[in-house]
Amino acid sequence: MAGLRVRSALLTGANRGIGLGLVKHFLQLPNPPERIFAACRDPKGERAQELQSLASKHPSLVIIPLDVTDPASIQAAAARVTEHLKGSGLNLLINNAGIVKWNSLDTTTREEMSEVYATNTIGPLLVSQAFLPLLKKAAQGSPSSELSCSRAAIINISSIGGSIASESSWDMIQIVSYRCSKAALNMLTKCQSLGYRQHGILCAALHPGWVQTDMGSVSGHTPPLTVDMSVQMMLEVFSKLSEKDSGTLLDWEGKVIPW
Ligand code: NDP
Repeated sequence: MAGLRVRSALLTGANRGIGLGLVKHFLQLPNPPERIFAACRDPKGERAQELQSLASKHPSLVIIPLDVTDPASIQAAAARVTEHLKGSGLNLLINNAGIVKWNSLDTTTREEMSEVYATNTIGPLLVSQAFLPLLKKAAQGSPSSELSCSRAAIINISSIGGSIASESSWDMIQIVSYRCSKAALNMLTKCQSLGYRQHGILCAALHPGWVQTDMGSVSGHTPPLTVDMSVQMMLEVFSKLSEKDSGTLLDWEGKVIPW
């Protein structure tokens, strides 16, 4: 973890689950970021109370309103973060916000496909586009010429459920709209890695494991990983990511998952 020296990071969906866990662990790093932008769609809502309380104790933590399905909200968030950074770039963007709908192959609807795709796939595309100037600035200002999370990176929190090569838990959960949205997010990650390499920005997709969050806790099943376990290991992975990892899908232990 000593290798992870991020001056600024922004996370979407930072008010609960894995996003909130990442915020807490970033704050506890030996070299914590100078600025952590915790983006969430309802900063004043009940589900953001823990985040609000953290922000009141940590001046480096800035809460930013951001609904990833709303282009105006994304633009406003990028403008706010630009103002906060006062001419510096953003090192790390984590597209974490996501939704799942528990329908099967037979019950998935057109509306559901659109809603899940808007959040899980189009959201990360538009958020990355909006923050690209700040990521480029961080890459240009870095003393290193190697790709890394400390320099400039986009991490898309994906899922093994979006791996076409894997039949992950099909018998237990079908979640077709979710799987399709994450398969598309994986392709987006590959495209971003190809397009943004020239700007010095590393792009990778990460599967956090099956984690005890609202999303992960499917009725009748207890996920094997706590948020702390998943996040702790993902931060280890972040600290080691390099050129060879850009454009890949990795799990929380850093193992490559086939597309
Ligand atoms: P949770 O359901 O616990 O949290 C989801 C987060 O996403 C919340 O903060 C939620 O905000 C936010 N969110 C949803 N829609 C939007 C939106 N339109 N704009 C902004 N924020 C939004 O999920 P997890 O923490 O478990 O999941 C985090 C990521 O990890 C997701 O991308 C998920 O697909 C992925 N993942 C999770 C796994 C697991 O086992 N938990 C397994 C594999 C992948 P709000 O409170 O406002 O709803």
